[in-house]
Amino acid sequence: MSFSALGLSAELLRAIAAQGYTQPTPIQSKAIPAVLARRDVLAAAQTGTGKTAAFTLPMLHLLSQSTQRQRAPRALVLTPTRELAAQVGESVSTYGQHLPLRALQIFGGVGMVPQTTALRRGVDILVATPGRLLDHVGQGHVDLSKIEFFVLDEADRMLDMGFIHDIRRVLKLLPSKRQNLLFSATYSREIEQLAIGLLHDPLRIEV
Ligand code: AMP
Repeated sequence: MSFSALGLSAELLRAIAAQGYTQPTPIQSKAIPAVLARRDVLAAAQTGTGKTAAFTLPMLHLLSQSTQRQRAPRALVLTPTRELAAQVGESVSTYGQHLPLRALQIFGGVGMVPQTTALRRGVDILVATPGRLLDHVGQGHVDLSKIEFFVLDEADRMLDMGFIHDIRRVLKLLPSKRQNLLFSATYSREIEQLAIGLLHDPLRIEV
């Protein structure tokens, strides 16, 4: 199986080749075609499996299929920590280097102002931790009503860190018609419950 057989665009294939990736990892082989077919996905995958590219690549592909001249973000990735937000944001920039999409990382522990300025300029993809995202929402800096694509990354860690209420608050701000992906290293009753409320007829992937 090659990356080109998965249906990704030439711009993404160039970025993947520049990274030196020769073939998709198992989670990428399963998730990428499903996401491109607009399915919701529930994936059990540890760090190191290539899970970040498994959601980032098809997300970039779908967003770049229709460019929109709006300032509100179209994709939202929630992560439990700022380190992970930075890492996912870096992957989005690397894989999306040949695409006209703007990405922004939003996390706490740093000043609000540079993030606010970037939000005002307009972004397509937001990679955020829940608390700081809600701070920006509360101050009217970001409109989540145009989100088409939502990813919950490391959902089990999010629940362990007590983010369930923040996650539910964010979900209420999203339009109901959207594509959702949930990635978790482990499954529990809480994850299943979250998945039931979030995902529509998801493809289940375990690697
Ligand atoms: P992740 O599981 O997303 O944390 O990714 C783990 C590491 O695997 C990262 O350093 C990626 O750059 C790398 N990686 C992702 N996909 C591939 C691939 N198809 N081939 C080789 N390395 C990859």
